Amino acid sequence: MTSGQGTVAVAEYLFRGDAEVARALLDSQGIRAHVRADDEGGLNPGFFSEYRVVLEVKAADAGDARVALGLGESLLVPDEIQAGMMAHAEWAHPNEACGLLAGGGEVIEMVFCLSNRDASPTRYTIDPHEHYGAMRFAEACGWDIVGAWHSHPNGDAVLSNVDVAESPGGEWITVVVGNGRLTGSPIRAYRTDGPAVTELAIHRSA
Ligand SMILES: [Zn+2]
Repeated sequence: MTSGQGTVAVAEYLFRGDAEVARALLDSQGIRAHVRADDEGGLNPGFFSEYRVVLEVKAADAGDARVALGLGESLLVPDEIQAGMMAHAEWAHPNEACGLLAGGGEVIEMVFCLSNRDASPTRYTIDPHEHYGAMRFAEACGWDIVGAWHSHPNGDAVLSNVDVAESPGGEWITVVVGNGRLTGSPIRAYRTDGPAVTELAIHRSA
């Protein structure tokens, strides 16, 4: 499935009518979406009632759109937390940046931007003293450490085999900050359980 520049397909439908209903729902929430039929080409889109259509939105709106449409699991990551991770990733470049995420449920309340003991462009180990400090701080605020984040300075925000293998599993969340060149989404979130990986749709507001 191909997408236009900077847009991603967030849902796929058999009937154009269903896609139009979803588009209207997003529109009512201020999210601009576009309905596109794969085989629209020279056909009259109004004439054929059934064919595969996709709903596209700007990459930055993809998480909000998935949440609005009730698709899959989601994670609330406020703008300032996303900005904090991006800034730390830029600062650490060309090495990987890393840190921890505190919160509860499907909400990230705070990001900790910590030191990468490996000082490497391809690996990270969170400084254990800083890790401990972050845990203490989160606990004092009534939050849990729910996951970790790191950057891929030279790649996309896609989990590597090492990321999956090293994840503690369970409810642990891994957020990756990539360069966004391939998918257009520089920040992506995952929940891993063994080799099973579920992407969480990131949204910015409740
Ligand atoms: Zn990684």
